[in-house]
Amino acid sequence: MLKRKIFAPLLTGVIAAGLLAGCGADKASEAGAGNTEKTKPSAQAVEQVVNIYSARSYDVDALLYKKFTEETGIKVNVIDGKAEELIERMKREGESTQADLFLTVDGGVLNNAKQAGLLQPATSETIDQNVPKELRDPENQWIGLSTRARVIVYSKDRVKPERLSTYEDLTSPAWKGKVLVRPSSSLYNQSLLSSFIELNGEEKAEEWSKGLVANLARTPEGNDRDQAKAIVAGVGDVALMNTYYVGLLINSDDPEEVKVGQSIGVFFPNQETTGTHVNISGAGVTKYSKNKDNAVKLIEFLTGTEAQTMVTNENYEFPVNAKAELPELLKSWGTFKTQQIDFNTLGVHNAKAIEIINKTGWK
Ligand code: FE
Repeated sequence: MLKRKIFAPLLTGVIAAGLLAGCGADKASEAGAGNTEKTKPSAQAVEQVVNIYSARSYDVDALLYKKFTEETGIKVNVIDGKAEELIERMKREGESTQADLFLTVDGGVLNNAKQAGLLQPATSETIDQNVPKELRDPENQWIGLSTRARVIVYSKDRVKPERLSTYEDLTSPAWKGKVLVRPSSSLYNQSLLSSFIELNGEEKAEEWSKGLVANLARTPEGNDRDQAKAIVAGVGDVALMNTYYVGLLINSDDPEEVKVGQSIGVFFPNQETTGTHVNISGAGVTKYSKNKDNAVKLIEFLTGTEAQTMVTNENYEFPVNAKAELPELLKSWGTFKTQQIDFNTLGVHNAKAIEIINKTGWK
């Protein structure tokens, strides 16, 4: 149950449940939830909390919430779910929602949440200083927490990086039977295709999807990391993959994964043309947040130099705060040219992207 726990050291009388109207049963319970402790609420006695609906869950996130609680005393409750499901849930719950913050990993979805009227501006000078304008909504209804590049990774043994150039080139005959990618149900792929619709038009995007499918080494399966593993297993030579998974592989506790990470190279495509595809993960304060100040504080914390340094050093994403210290691996990749498109367009073209995916048989 996602609920506000009441601190009540010596109190008796009023049942806490009176304060919890509207909270739904949920597995993401906190310690003490469901107990029958009788409490008398008072303004000072209410524990400070922030409740998150999150479609972003990496190990680093839990570490960050813990640190935030240690520093501020504000407890963080998280309900994980798929972005669409969480959006539907917030729509259904309306004003009674317990969500204070919505977190997800796609610019299109962040904008969908805004368009659905589920978010509100987070007004904060600290946020404005931490995050450059282009990485947040013009009204701060969502704020970027990290960016991620979807690149071509390749077998260091079998592919010379000089042979690589663009996403488009992966559809040329030279790569027949060599290309790996996860299934099209992944938003990472849908947004990649959306970016091509935005940059090159529907026709070219469809051509690309068709060409990609024709060059696949196997029917798409698994996640991004599985594509890297398939390269090392010799199933294919190149794969589309988000760069942070390369960092997670190289720094894994599993020696097999370390080997996979070290056997693949990272190539930033389209440097002479439209740039490498980059997406964003971000957070927005919900329209009906009951703990707005705490939600804003958490965004300030997550975009601060220390948290951003943790995000990039633990999860290998690119920080949104330029003051964050990059890990050596990311430094070794150098700078690269990114697609110059509005993140919102990823959502705008999503339906078309799915239509193209289905039409071209991308499983
Ligand atoms: Fe991911």
